[in-house]
Amino acid sequence: MYCDECGLPRGVGKANEWKPNGTIVSRYEADLRGVFVDAGELGHLVSSLSDRMGYDVSRLVTEGKRKDSAHYARGLIERMRNSGSALPEAGDFMRMMAANYAVPGFGKVTILDFRDDGSVVLDMEGAYNLPMALGQTAGVYEAVLGTRGDVDYEGDEKQSRVIILPREGNPELERRIESEVEQAPTLSDEGDAEYKACPRCSAPLELSRALDWKVEDSLIVEKRSGRRFVFDNVRGLTAVMRLLVDELGEDVERMLAEIARDYARAYYSDMGKGISFQDESSRMALFGWGLPAGLEKSGEGFTLRLINPFYGPLMAGRIWGLVETLGENELELGEYDWSETAVAQVTLTAA
Ligand SMILES: [Zn+2]
Repeated sequence: MYCDECGLPRGVGKANEWKPNGTIVSRYEADLRGVFVDAGELGHLVSSLSDRMGYDVSRLVTEGKRKDSAHYARGLIERMRNSGSALPEAGDFMRMMAANYAVPGFGKVTILDFRDDGSVVLDMEGAYNLPMALGQTAGVYEAVLGTRGDVDYEGDEKQSRVIILPREGNPELERRIESEVEQAPTLSDEGDAEYKACPRCSAPLELSRALDWKVEDSLIVEKRSGRRFVFDNVRGLTAVMRLLVDELGEDVERMLAEIARDYARAYYSDMGKGISFQDESSRMALFGWGLPAGLEKSGEGFTLRLINPFYGPLMAGRIWGLVETLGENELELGEYDWSETAVAQVTLTAA
């Protein structure tokens, strides 16, 4: 299961390519872009946004993730069909997907019962983020059974019992909404991120030094911070963020940047002295977040570009918190433009 040379799960380097432009791209599906996400940051994001809105956004997060997960699972089924191999039974397919969750560190999922009425009962243990994990499961269900599923659960992230019930819906309408998720984002070719590849599995050696990756525990831990990470896909995160903005309004983008900034300040402060903009930028690219570039002092503040940010507002917030921590001062988010997926512009000004 693990590479003899670097210790990472063997499939990781085989399935993914680390590009100089700060992205990790699947070797099997060109539009699929991977990203290492701090699970604690996701939780912080859901709770902070809920606090600010005075409304629990968990359901929206589940809904956004469901769209992406259904799209992903449908693609997988399509590829199996095209390859001429026999499609597994619905229950077996769900069990196969559940087993696959261990590698990206999503937690342990056990399918308990596949009932005649089309409902599915499962256990989740150590979910990285419950609203996201529920959406993921509902999406797989939908792809396999061709019908929407309503998720209900008891418990928490540590341990929960989940039931998915079939629901009548309008698949045509759903599909139209989802077509937005399916559009491949434009990427920039700019960038000079470079890693020494493991001679055996071709994953960056730097990655094996950064992460403690235990497939048997369905857990990825960043060594230096002890924080849990998951290897998710950019499209899924974007689908969630986009749905939040669609439902709650444009102001949410800026809020997400502010929430990411708060998290980043706490994170980088914990790292203590000795961190640098250069090293942290390089780690961002290693994790597939995109590549910060052209940092320049501008008056009392800074300007910079973000090449291929995994999601503009979150990446901008991350950089904002990093620059503040390095300079030990407070900055404001000045002018910004994160409307393009390929390059975002950010200005940080004196507070
Ligand atoms: Zn290796």
